[in-house]
Amino acid sequence: MKLLDFDKHFPSEAVCIEKFKELRNKSGIVCPHCGNKEHIWLPTSMHFECKSCHSSRSLSSGTFMHGSKLPFLYWFIAIHLFNSTKKTFSASEMQRQLGHKRYQPIWEMLHKIRSVMGQRDAQYTFSGMFELDEGFFSTERDENEKTEPLKRGRGSQKKSKVLVMVESQQVENPKNPKKPKRVNHLKMIVIPDLKAKTIYQKATISIDKDA
Ligand SMILES: [Zn+2]
Repeated sequence: MKLLDFDKHFPSEAVCIEKFKELRNKSGIVCPHCGNKEHIWLPTSMHFECKSCHSSRSLSSGTFMHGSKLPFLYWFIAIHLFNSTKKTFSASEMQRQLGHKRYQPIWEMLHKIRSVMGQRDAQYTFSGMFELDEGFFSTERDENEKTEPLKRGRGSQKKSKVLVMVESQQVENPKNPKKPKRVNHLKMIVIPDLKAKTIYQKATISIDKDA
């Protein structure tokens, strides 16, 4: 969905609530008290009530939005931005765009979305042609690590090791002969060390058997 279409599909908080309720009903709500799967929707208090034991739960209970006081519309906007843009955006930028007073809840919302999307990405497995390499980024050392002597180069404690895995595809008649391949899915995982065993273990859970 394009950015402009978002407003057509989700023009208001009420529409987002209705949509979220539909999704919840579709995936099925199970009462945590009695295991019953049938619920009644109470629109005034915006709660589901278990038909069997009459316990109630909020619309977002049991989901990653649980406990958030932010409007559903905020969540929909943020998720949409994550899905439709390739760029990352900061919590302060999001806060400014939404015109929200407090920073913390916006930060928490983005953190939750990133973490859920990370879990989804972690389940993705590569197929076809797949390439991997190691990468690094600089990190601060923990206070208790500072007593250890600092190693140099790629083994340094100041460098976090990252396994970079890419699904690549040969392009037929590439416009630019210097770019004969196209990158599909990409995955980066922080790894404790660069031992072959560690890399092998991490890589094998990310690839299909026929890759
Ligand atoms: Zn129940």
